[in-house]
Amino acid sequence: MTQTTSAPHHKDGTAPTVARYDAVVRAAVGQGLLGEGGPVAGFIDTEGVRGSVGALHDAFAATPGVLHTFAAKACSLIPVLRLLADCGMGCEVASPGELRLALEAGFPASRIVLDSPAKTREEIRLALALGVAVNADSLDELRRVDALRNPSTSSVLGLRVNPQVGGGSIGPMSTATDTSKFGVALRDPGAREAIVGAFRQRPWLTRLHAHVGSQGCPLELIAAGVARTYELAEEINATLGVRQITSLDIGGGLPVNFADETVRPTYADYVVALTAAAPGLFSGRYELVTEFGRSLLAKNGFIGARVEYTKDAGGRRIALTHAGAQTATRTVLMPDAWPLRIGAFGPDGVPKGGPVLAQDIAGPCCFAGDVVAYGRELPELAEDDLVVLYDTGAYYFSTPWAYNSLPRPAVYGFRVAAGHAGTVMFATVREPQSLDSIAAESGLAHVDALIGRGD
Ligand SMILES: *Cc1c(COP(=O)(O)O)cnc(C)c1O
Repeated sequence: MTQTTSAPHHKDGTAPTVARYDAVVRAAVGQGLLGEGGPVAGFIDTEGVRGSVGALHDAFAATPGVLHTFAAKACSLIPVLRLLADCGMGCEVASPGELRLALEAGFPASRIVLDSPAKTREEIRLALALGVAVNADSLDELRRVDALRNPSTSSVLGLRVNPQVGGGSIGPMSTATDTSKFGVALRDPGAREAIVGAFRQRPWLTRLHAHVGSQGCPLELIAAGVARTYELAEEINATLGVRQITSLDIGGGLPVNFADETVRPTYADYVVALTAAAPGLFSGRYELVTEFGRSLLAKNGFIGARVEYTKDAGGRRIALTHAGAQTATRTVLMPDAWPLRIGAFGPDGVPKGGPVLAQDIAGPCCFAGDVVAYGRELPELAEDDLVVLYDTGAYYFSTPWAYNSLPRPAVYGFRVAAGHAGTVMFATVREPQSLDSIAAESGLAHVDALIGRGD
């Protein structure tokens, strides 16, 4: 079978699918996970995840002792977090919920980092009691840490700075603009002195943190932000006359190529860019922490969804599928910033052939913009066919939106069993949300609360 893995448009012939996942789609249909009984589901390539973690570790291998944490928000599913823990990752969390998931997944507290711009006193207290590392987002938050910190805490404590190196191509993903809400704005008047003073007053403050941005930020921009942070650490240590800052948390944000199959940039490319921008970073002067999310998971997952109907409207062909804003939220709300590759499959899970036709791929939500791709050239879709949304392993099915009371989709991990002629083995990561669960989340326990008959 000849499959093209990346070409976006074929005038005819086979659909543009990711060939190595074709057998997985077919097996998912065969095992009843996709189709009439499973209108939409997320799939995670467990060997692929292990491979991506391996590439990350390899890229930094020359520097011993790097703590690579996974940004939990990128795939907030406990079995996935446990897989990552099993691969030697730590975990970056930004809410009490994410902290709970990380602990349930088995990450030791010493390998968890708490970031967030709005930590409550209670969250800080718990993190300090557990020994979770905390990066304060502001000098005000540092003052809260002063009040809550027990001198015997084993938590590594740091301060997040905003190196203000500028934004990338997606505004909402750019955390190092002049006016970003994150960290202490490094280039604002008086900021450097205030930061040095904050470290001088707190001998236990030993880490600097920066996360320059996510998707849309070029490598050079991220590297420049890390370089400014490194230089600041050197300046603080020189000013204080003691190497008080012992570790740098350089964040995540490696962009993902959604246009085709190639992984670019790679972690190795990133290490090259970092070395060029901040040659001392890998000298061993500082322990390093990373916080990658999207680049570890995006290409290791996809969404499969059924085509329920097709129709023509105003000369346009529309496929009405079960993959819409509830599972591809960013793509639907910002279609130009987050385009996805889509594959077309028959009801049996075999890639569709035949002439291509420009079609809108729409979702099930009741608003007109619920379309994951406009005018996409694919083999003509029909009722009962399937569409596959590639590169959706991070921030898509794991982070659903409860619009229209649509259920959270099921998520399955898969691997191809060795020695069984390509048998695909699935493991349930999350059941599809039940109607009972939707009712409970929608206030069922308080059904009479507003008509005066509650208690
Ligand atoms: C979201 C986030 C990350 C991960 O970003 P990716 O683009 O998914 O790698 C890392 N650190 C912080 C502080 C974040 O907010």
